[in-house]
Amino acid sequence: MSGPERYAQLRATAKIHERPLFRLGHSFSELELQARWFAGDFGKSFTGTAGETIDVVQFGTWNREAGPDFSDAAVRINHREILRGSIEFDIADLNWESHGHATNPAFDQTVLHVFSERGTREFFTRTSANRQVTQLQVDPAALPAVFSSNIPLARPGRCQAPLRGLPEEKISSILDAAAQFRLQRKAQRLERLAGLHGEDEALLQEFAAALGYKQNKLPFTLLAQRLPLKTLRALPNEIEASLFGVAGFLDAPDLAEFKPGTRKYLRVLWDSWWPRRAELERLILPARTWRLSGTRPLNHPQRRLAALAAIAREWPRLRRSLGKEDLGAARRFFAELAHPFWNFHYTLTSQPAGAEMALVGESRITEILANVVLPWRQAQARAAWPDYTKLPARLTNRRLETGAARLFGDDPRRARFLRTVAQQQGLLQIYEDFCLQDESDCAQCPFPEQMQKWV
Ligand code: SF4
Repeated sequence: MSGPERYAQLRATAKIHERPLFRLGHSFSELELQARWFAGDFGKSFTGTAGETIDVVQFGTWNREAGPDFSDAAVRINHREILRGSIEFDIADLNWESHGHATNPAFDQTVLHVFSERGTREFFTRTSANRQVTQLQVDPAALPAVFSSNIPLARPGRCQAPLRGLPEEKISSILDAAAQFRLQRKAQRLERLAGLHGEDEALLQEFAAALGYKQNKLPFTLLAQRLPLKTLRALPNEIEASLFGVAGFLDAPDLAEFKPGTRKYLRVLWDSWWPRRAELERLILPARTWRLSGTRPLNHPQRRLAALAAIAREWPRLRRSLGKEDLGAARRFFAELAHPFWNFHYTLTSQPAGAEMALVGESRITEILANVVLPWRQAQARAAWPDYTKLPARLTNRRLETGAARLFGDDPRRARFLRTVAQQQGLLQIYEDFCLQDESDCAQCPFPEQMQKWV
């Protein structure tokens, strides 16, 4: 049995229930749910509110016109012929009525009305032509925990004592197996996304998420969904302006306030954005979607957005580098991304920095390789694991520190178990599968006993 298979078996002893998307009491934003819907996180085969079988054949595109949220979608109801049209995603079924969709002809082509909350009285979704639209209720609580941030207290757990007594090779072998399991899961996610949106779009969405990590993963994902690669690359000279415009970063303050270099750059962006603004207006992200405070200036989302624009612009070169067996080719692609403005500025309006800065720093490149490039290789059945084990750990985070404190306590070997990205990922997997599932303060967690049997 392979390492990941053995880990899957070990994991099966825990009562794994994927955690809810958000902590209890968190109110879902419609945008977050729509992004998860479009990413296929709710699945693609459902049962409608009237018991119909619903298969989403094509999730469509984020709609930039007046009308439902997603256009050019395709669904199959009760295994009959494919229906093409739009999909509307609301928080509550009654939003259809209260938002005036029932009388708005722009919603007449809706083939599916999705919502997460159902009112107490029965509600039928109808178009202005009085056609009944199939309804689907989805359950956000059943979503996998991608954006969850439930962190328990960091104190050593029950497994710390037995782990201390285990030889280093055995602990490394458990961490490796958990990391390989996690890599496979990431590969499966990419495969699923590619099945929904095509390889290029799936990759762009994952690169965007990696650039947005962690506070702005949602707006970056939304941008890549709303401005797909084929849209961006249709107007290659306007990629940057479109992304900054749809991000909502191109308001119109007084240009005279800025230094000449900044003024010149902003002028170029605005000149390309304004003619397209009306066409793309409906896709512009609300300012509240962004988390702009608490990030290091070097990692400001506007710098990361410039990197996403450069990635889209250089897409054919990036794809060639991804096709090479040498991981160094992809690493060099990201390291060599450059921009005359963003190599010297933290934000659109900041003063120039004293020294040149990389557009994508070393630690972000490592994260991109670990979370997108190598899972992509794995999905293509190409060698990924040997390179994965060589990626040095450059970052840590609260979840990782908490996991390390719970499993290893003050074991003097603790730092040695977390030197590579693979080891970190293995620890995170164990932490999520066991610590975050545990509701017994370790007493009923099967991990300590199971790992003793690990061979
Ligand atoms: S919940 Fe399980 S894996 Fe986590 S610290 Fe406790 S015993 Fe260890």
